[in-house]
Amino acid sequence: MTKADALEKLNTEHAKACACGLKATATQAVPGTGNPDADILFIGEAPGKNEDRQGVPFVGAAGKFLNEMLAAAGLKREDIYITNIVKYRPPNNRDPLPEEVESCEVWLHAEIALIEPKVIVTLGRHAHEHFVPGMKISEVHGTAFRRNIPGLGAQIVFALYHPAAALYNGSMRATLIADFQKVPKLIEELSTEAGA
Ligand code: URA
Repeated sequence: MTKADALEKLNTEHAKACACGLKATATQAVPGTGNPDADILFIGEAPGKNEDRQGVPFVGAAGKFLNEMLAAAGLKREDIYITNIVKYRPPNNRDPLPEEVESCEVWLHAEIALIEPKVIVTLGRHAHEHFVPGMKISEVHGTAFRRNIPGLGAQIVFALYHPAAALYNGSMRATLIADFQKVPKLIEELSTEAGA
């Protein structure tokens, strides 16, 4: 089985088995999409209205800005993998509850284990809090953390503001783009370290 097939199977199985309470109100599951061999795995918060309709993450306005940010670093959506902490849209886009995050965690961690990214890029405070708790996103954006995640081993987690927060804020847009531009260099350094 190819890695792409394994990823498709994983997402189908978890969509069936996931016990998240949001299933009751969401249109459908929104699994991750993208390159199964990606070095960079983006993790957002939860699907919004457009994502819930289409079953694909980051297809709305935040996704459009994300594409611009990728292009500024010479990357395309096909180069990365993108998913969310929670796989179902919370009603009226409210914050996901801790029990919803917990129900979807096994699915998220299975995606990470299969893809084995070099860097996990968290989008916004919810995603960052999941891996590196107790930090303020305003203080840690643009910074990489090395964390041992139970069941996943050592992971590099890089914090970004959420693209939706930057949509109508020019200086935050510039900060997000500048922060993300550090990621290819970080990957290069990690590869050198691994080969050293
Ligand atoms: N915001 C998110 O965090 N995830 C999406 O999929 C879309 C918007």
